[in-house]
Amino acid sequence: MVNKMEEKQIYPWHQKNWLRLQKMGTSLPHALIFHGPEGTGIEDFAEIWAKTLLCENRHDESSACGRCSSCRWFDQGSHPDYQRLTPDALDPDPESGTVNSDTSEDTSNKKTKQPSKKIPIDAIRQLHDFVNITTHRGGFRVILIYPAEAMTMEASNAVLKMLEEPPANTFFLLITNQLGALLPTILSRCGKLAFPLPDKAEALAWLEQQQIKDPDIWLAEQGGAPLAALKASETDTNNNEHAILLDCLALPNLTSVLKTAEQLQKIPVKQSIIWMQRWLYDLVSKRQADTIRYHPRQHQAIERLASKADLPKLLMATKQMVDRRKTAEYPLVPRLVLEDMLLDYLKIFSDQHRLFR
Ligand SMILES: [Zn+2]
Repeated sequence: MVNKMEEKQIYPWHQKNWLRLQKMGTSLPHALIFHGPEGTGIEDFAEIWAKTLLCENRHDESSACGRCSSCRWFDQGSHPDYQRLTPDALDPDPESGTVNSDTSEDTSNKKTKQPSKKIPIDAIRQLHDFVNITTHRGGFRVILIYPAEAMTMEASNAVLKMLEEPPANTFFLLITNQLGALLPTILSRCGKLAFPLPDKAEALAWLEQQQIKDPDIWLAEQGGAPLAALKASETDTNNNEHAILLDCLALPNLTSVLKTAEQLQKIPVKQSIIWMQRWLYDLVSKRQADTIRYHPRQHQAIERLASKADLPKLLMATKQMVDRRKTAEYPLVPRLVLEDMLLDYLKIFSDQHRLFR
């Protein structure tokens, strides 16, 4: 299993809060709400804090040791005294010891269903067993809920009941990006710690360390939230070229193919190949399973093209993309590679000869 915990860090803009919590340590209220804007890493902070509370080698004001059995279990996502409640849609690793929220749902249409964005009542019910037995390690137990506003009304009420009669040796960490969306009765039972947006210089300095291009533009687009900016920069680079390619793929013809190959030659060929692979993936997926994964906004074009496509040619083109991706690392003339790729794409619809005119 990938050790995700080790990648997590206390970000520079959270240092003050970190020192505050460390000073207070286990004399903190048994329930805390961490609140602040999305994309600033509050959930990472909370996980590191949970690990710290559980660490068996922890002395006053120190961080988790990273070596004791508790820390090791935590890193592996299997600590018996730790529960992280998060909607299925946000869970990066469904087998990591998280209380999954789909236990109550009937399984008949589970495969086709979108992962839930809510934390349902059943996730909270499962906590009753968790808090009603002695802790496995004889120390504290920690329950982390993120984002707390994703709890259904029933789930919120169930949590409120637990907060009213707090189980022994148990810390609740609620993380929210919308403090006002939580029940006032929950708010009044919890200590609160604010995580404001980092100041711009601090956020920019951090983004520069991550070596992203144009950090100020990304940061602005994400409203000053540095982790959101980093994520957007990793997924959306060359946005303009992406739009050009999508336009060409949506309305394929010889003229646009030649023009597009020319316009895309300046960006890494591999990037264009990845975009193209996703497009072909959606065409196959639409044709065979009536679903679209990557291009919901272009669903009309995908639908139209998927029904027009020569299926064997489409599948062949999809396979060829794998080879193209391998050769994309070699120094070739990008424009020719792109032309070749897009001309092959035209052939998928070649029964419609008018496409070539
Ligand atoms: Zn430890």
